Amino acid sequence: MSGNESRLQAIYQITNRESAAMEKAGTLSEIWASDVFNLAKMEDSLSKNAFKAIKKTVQTGEALDSSNADIVAAAMKEWAVSKGAKFYSHIFYPLTHATAEKHDGFIITNSDGNAITEFTGSLLIKGEPDGSSFPNGSIRMTNAARGYTAWDPTSPVYIQETEIGATLMIPSVFMSWTGEALDKKIPLLRSNDAMNKAGSRVLSLMGETDIAPLNSSCGAEQEYFLVDSNFANSRPDLLLTGRTLFGAPSAKGQEFDDHYFGAIPARVQLYMQDIEDQLYKLGIPAKTSHNEVAPGQFEIAPYFEAANVAADHQQQLMTTLKATAKKHGFICLLHEKPFAGINGSGKHVNWSVGNATQGNLLDPGQTPHDNLNFLLFCGAVIRGVHKFGPLLRSVIASAGNDHRLGANEAPPAILSVYLGEQLEKVYEDIKEGKLTPSKAGGEMDLGLSQILNFERDPGDRNRTSPFAFTGNRFEFRAVGSAQSVSGPLVAMNTMLADSLNWIADKLEGALSGGTDKTVAVIEVLKQLIEENGNVVFGGDGYSSEWHEKAVSERGLKNIPTTADALPALQEESVKELFSSTGVLSPIELESRYEVYAEQYILAIEVEAKLVVDMATTMIYPAATRYLSELTMTNSGLNEMGIEMDNSIAMTVATEASAMMTEVANLKEAMAKEDFADTDEHTQYFANTILGLMVAVRTHADTLETVVADELWPLPKYHEMLFIK
Ligand code: ADP
Ligand code: MG
Repeated sequence: MSGNESRLQAIYQITNRESAAMEKAGTLSEIWASDVFNLAKMEDSLSKNAFKAIKKTVQTGEALDSSNADIVAAAMKEWAVSKGAKFYSHIFYPLTHATAEKHDGFIITNSDGNAITEFTGSLLIKGEPDGSSFPNGSIRMTNAARGYTAWDPTSPVYIQETEIGATLMIPSVFMSWTGEALDKKIPLLRSNDAMNKAGSRVLSLMGETDIAPLNSSCGAEQEYFLVDSNFANSRPDLLLTGRTLFGAPSAKGQEFDDHYFGAIPARVQLYMQDIEDQLYKLGIPAKTSHNEVAPGQFEIAPYFEAANVAADHQQQLMTTLKATAKKHGFICLLHEKPFAGINGSGKHVNWSVGNATQGNLLDPGQTPHDNLNFLLFCGAVIRGVHKFGPLLRSVIASAGNDHRLGANEAPPAILSVYLGEQLEKVYEDIKEGKLTPSKAGGEMDLGLSQILNFERDPGDRNRTSPFAFTGNRFEFRAVGSAQSVSGPLVAMNTMLADSLNWIADKLEGALSGGTDKTVAVIEVLKQLIEENGNVVFGGDGYSSEWHEKAVSERGLKNIPTTADALPALQEESVKELFSSTGVLSPIELESRYEVYAEQYILAIEVEAKLVVDMATTMIYPAATRYLSELTMTNSGLNEMGIEMDNSIAMTVATEASAMMTEVANLKEAMAKEDFADTDEHTQYFANTILGLMVAVRTHADTLETVVADELWPLPKYHEMLFIK
């Protein structure tokens, strides 16, 4: 079958598609968390003492003793087997953005050859997958094949169902034989710990006596595209790289804004419903799903949870989005920029910190005292973004996200903080000395509860800021849609811990010298804003003035590519940040630089190979086929004395030939192997390879606009975006 036939057939089949067969799920209360072995289920199945022990572990992360671990494991197994599970698996989060699993059977045979099931506390707590097949950067393990997984009891186990069976999934950490973190969960847990310690110090200096453990929270908004799988199957680029490497713009794009909050097509509606039911069973609080700005783009935003659980749930959500799409005849694209010229996808990471006694510390609160706590924690975030802007940029760096950041649809590649007019003025007044406590000291009314109501109005949000205060949390908007949220959460928690420690040191000094508490707080904040206020920006982040001013006047960095961003992980200040807080040792940090750089290079390498391949075997043949038709017709007619216009034939010939010249250039450039170091390697891909890929594409996209539609082998933008 020639390319054109399969493309046209794809359209025909899609328009005649039948909806996926679905059974009606139960009511919300029937299905909510039905596949999760949560505290409520443990309470039902455990003895009082065992339950007390596990509850303490879940709530504080404190280790579970081995006899209770055995009891919990037995109850867990019983529950899982009753739900049809025959296997269990430690699920963990290696340094790729994916998840990894190692499945084991519950079953062992006894001496009579009969099958019995076995699952002990030590099997629950420790698994031993082959560590050597996961990226570990410079961490050379003593025994290279060894990596350990261990259950993270703060994240509940659950059942993963397939059509024919079920597996008990155990959220786990993944570490090397020598105890180094090989995953994204360990640093997240450590960063939360560091933030808790530093935050408790500040609260205690502020006179709080009852201070519950502080936890970070995360609510992630996930954007994604749906494309019919018939189209995707005839686009090797979508299948292998998640984005289109070729494709001329469609006559109609997103300019009408008619997709945003528009009616959701019936097939998509069914898909979303299916997703929600599955997520509810897994105890994932999916909240909203609606159309996004681009045609074919949608969003799902679960309600916020403790960051560690939210991060696990985010991975499950991405897996569910992809797997369920297949069932409905779609492919779900989580790539940051599947279509050039059409808005890409991000993942807004909403983040706050708080505890059971003081509540959300990024909420301005209602009393003058709460206002002060808030100003300190919010100030700590401002300082963190200022001091560690390049780190924040590096944790959102990926080959995919580079296509999005800095374009006029996504946050700029400059890290600044948006506070909103009122809050910005409060800090400005503190800096100018306009907001000073009365001589007698004591509490003063900053009236910040006003901010709460004002800022929560989403109409006022600055959507051009990469890092925005939104009334009771910060929204890190520059995160990529395909990314794990762990990296950004680790960076935010850790920079906050560092700033809170800085604040605590200053406060301690002032208070021990006898300074009044309110006076001391205002003094600390004054210094903080004087030193870090440059990072606060309320204007248009997309404007060229800002790009100019941010760098020349504010001293902020514009970091356009992953190649430019990753070296931040090797900076002394960043090493010091992570080792002083105990979040990542220098070796662990360095290994992350290496792994992320390698992933960047690999991603572009696959794309570049595919550009060569598709241009040579799909696009060039279509162009020459058309050219031979045209020239045959034209010369025949010329012989008959009919003067034919040869301009189209000329365009096809020159563009096809120019494209193949660029293909040759790209191939030659790809052959280079000698690089002084990783940095030179990533820079080469960012500055040379990507440019050559664009050069090939430019000619190919021009060809798409002149070659006969029925000869074109690749589904076109308007087809992929608008046919559902
Ligand atoms: P937007 O207006 O940015 O599209 P959404 O309502 O779609 O906002 O998503 C907001 C996200 O922020 C949700 O996941 C929500 O649960 C989360 N969120 C709300 N409050 C907090 C908080 N205090 N801490 C962390 N996340 C929060
Ligand atoms: Mg948002």
